Amino acid sequence: CQTETALKKNPRKAIPSAGEVQVRGDGEKAVKIGFSMDTLLEERWLKDRDLFKEAVEELGAEVEIMAANGDDAVQISQAETLIKQGVDLLVVVPHNAEATASIVKKAHEAGIKVISYDRLVKNADIDLYISFDNEKVGELQARAITKLVPKGKYVYIGGAITDHNAHLFKRGVFNVLQPLIEKGDIQIVYDQWSRDWTPANAFVNMEEALKANQNQIDAVIAANDATAGGAIQALAVQGLAGKIPVAGQDAELAAAQRIIRGTQTMTVYKPIGTLTKEAAELAVRMAKGENIEASRKINNGKIEVPSVLLSPIAVDKHNMDRTIIADGFHSREEVYK
Ligand code: BGC
Repeated sequence: CQTETALKKNPRKAIPSAGEVQVRGDGEKAVKIGFSMDTLLEERWLKDRDLFKEAVEELGAEVEIMAANGDDAVQISQAETLIKQGVDLLVVVPHNAEATASIVKKAHEAGIKVISYDRLVKNADIDLYISFDNEKVGELQARAITKLVPKGKYVYIGGAITDHNAHLFKRGVFNVLQPLIEKGDIQIVYDQWSRDWTPANAFVNMEEALKANQNQIDAVIAANDATAGGAIQALAVQGLAGKIPVAGQDAELAAAQRIIRGTQTMTVYKPIGTLTKEAAELAVRMAKGENIEASRKINNGKIEVPSVLLSPIAVDKHNMDRTIIADGFHSREEVYK
């Protein structure tokens, strides 16, 4: 395999600079993983960061983490720094699915394999993709809302157009809605992306949707809890919060609280601890040169990427206790505060 050959040739591996590499008790060099993150602005990514670090360290390896605050140029330069620092493998959460392809190219030139984490890097030879079944996330949202509102005017508040996941979430939603649209039961009266997933942009989108439809809206599906939060604020301005079902995703604490208070209908819980554990294990094994067999393959525009997809879980007020709370994702006290 090309990458492994490059790994053997890489002089950085042969002469590690002092201070960069820890030697374990058994004399073996500790594996070092680089984790290049898009952002730490949302609650979920803080969990990803902390739990991934914990999982990597439990395996006796080290991790160097950098977050780019949603800036492509910063993410690329941080990844270059990690490559120069001599990480054995790079795990990337791309801000921009296309722009981060250059990181993969640079890592491979240095003999470093790359795992695409949660979000797919497009048009690049990534070595592995690990995420949740993101199309299923959208399907769970739409199934929950169509059960409550089988007919009526729907608003879709999308995520960031630059994030491949946003497209998968939307595809999942429309897998469920399309037959109902064709039957004439459901009309999509507004459908927009929210730049960089921010609540502020989702707020503006929801305001626009309300205005264009004279507040005559029956249901809202927002791509995640951050955008759902923005949409709910706009509904609140019109006195409509809690009157129109809203779906989100991520099981953020604020969303879980809104579900209990009745302003948000459901969220999709993705157990981040499972993702980080699996990703850490695969990363360390790959960094040690093991070949990983993945049963699924996902096309990223360039190759069929070996992929591991975990299952998301729909959560509303009825199963909050036996999912998010039972898992310790949030405490009962926090959620019911
Ligand atoms: C993730 C979501 C997250 C969103 C915004 C997506 O790629 O899968 O969990 O809410 O990015 O950060």
